[in-house]
Amino acid sequence: MQTSIQVGKFFGIPIRLHFTFLFIFFAIIFTFASWEPAQTRIPLGLGGLELSPLVRYSLSFIAAILFFFTLLLHELAHSIVAMRFGTKIHSITLFFFGGLAMMEDIPRNPAKEWRIAIAGPLMSLALGGLLLSVYMALRTLSIYRPIAILVMTIGIFNVMLAAFNLLPAFPMDGGRILRALLASRMSFLKATRRAALIGKIFAFILVILGFTRDPFSFILTGRWEMNFWLPLLAIFLFMAAAEEERATATFALLDGVKVRNVMRTEGTTVPENITLTELVNAMLVNKTTEYAVVDANGNLRGFITLESVKKIPILQRDVMRVSDVMIQYDPVDALPGDAPASEALKRMLRDRKGILAVIEGAGGELIGIVTRKDLSFYLEMLRGSTPE
Ligand SMILES: [Zn+2]
Repeated sequence: MQTSIQVGKFFGIPIRLHFTFLFIFFAIIFTFASWEPAQTRIPLGLGGLELSPLVRYSLSFIAAILFFFTLLLHELAHSIVAMRFGTKIHSITLFFFGGLAMMEDIPRNPAKEWRIAIAGPLMSLALGGLLLSVYMALRTLSIYRPIAILVMTIGIFNVMLAAFNLLPAFPMDGGRILRALLASRMSFLKATRRAALIGKIFAFILVILGFTRDPFSFILTGRWEMNFWLPLLAIFLFMAAAEEERATATFALLDGVKVRNVMRTEGTTVPENITLTELVNAMLVNKTTEYAVVDANGNLRGFITLESVKKIPILQRDVMRVSDVMIQYDPVDALPGDAPASEALKRMLRDRKGILAVIEGAGGELIGIVTRKDLSFYLEMLRGSTPE
């Protein structure tokens, strides 16, 4: 399901908005428009000012845009450092809890990881400092007060964003820096597990603080209050920490495993000109649901899976041929036998593919296939035979 849309490009990186972004966007407009200065230690928001609704909501709209623009700059800072280390950035997505730069191959190199992680908070801190100095200048010039308040609010938001992100709670930036520090003294997997555990403990503390006394509200208002955003954020953090830990463990298991070790070589191909009925019969005999499709000369033409056959009504399966429904072969769907098995998993996850071809030699001769099922079966065996 498509849950986000692309709204533009920055430094060649697609910028996407997740649908949950809309909620937070309107929440910010409303909050900024109505926040009373008396509710906060320093005047944040336009609540106490005599303004027409048009001016009030136009300024709040600008505040929300600026808010997300600075968030985008935070993610861009991570991305640009990562790009300098040769990492490809898929996209930057803005969603409910902030931004997320989707990177391909986050370096497992601690020296690179902490630099990528710290770039975002440093950017937010610099933006915060800049905006707060602009606020000071505007104040001495006694410029139109709502504008000064807007600049200060975004400045404070950036300082808080930097501070919050630097909490050592994985997978936030501070947690990534922590993992990089730990990884220089132990294995990457162990460092991830420890950082994820600390992240989960932080998530637990955030739940308790959210239901009792929120330090962030205290900093802003001087009063201890409940804040139901914190438990929500904590659930998100907890799940993200668990997910990252699981993914790291999976890739660590595949360390040293080659595509050749995971591939299947028997009953892996079907000719392109057989009918779908014949194909389904072959699947039942071979007890497999994915095939590489070859032409009369044995050249790889594409892939066919039970999933694509299921979409064709039974009555048409006698006349339709494999070549009519197969997924056309694309060179990114092939790997040499000596490639790391983790690369096969990465491509399957990235391109949502269930099958890859294994090729050898200059002619790219087909020597086997790797399916997602083969890989998960292999991982299952590795899990069962590898000491923790
Ligand atoms: Zn960040």
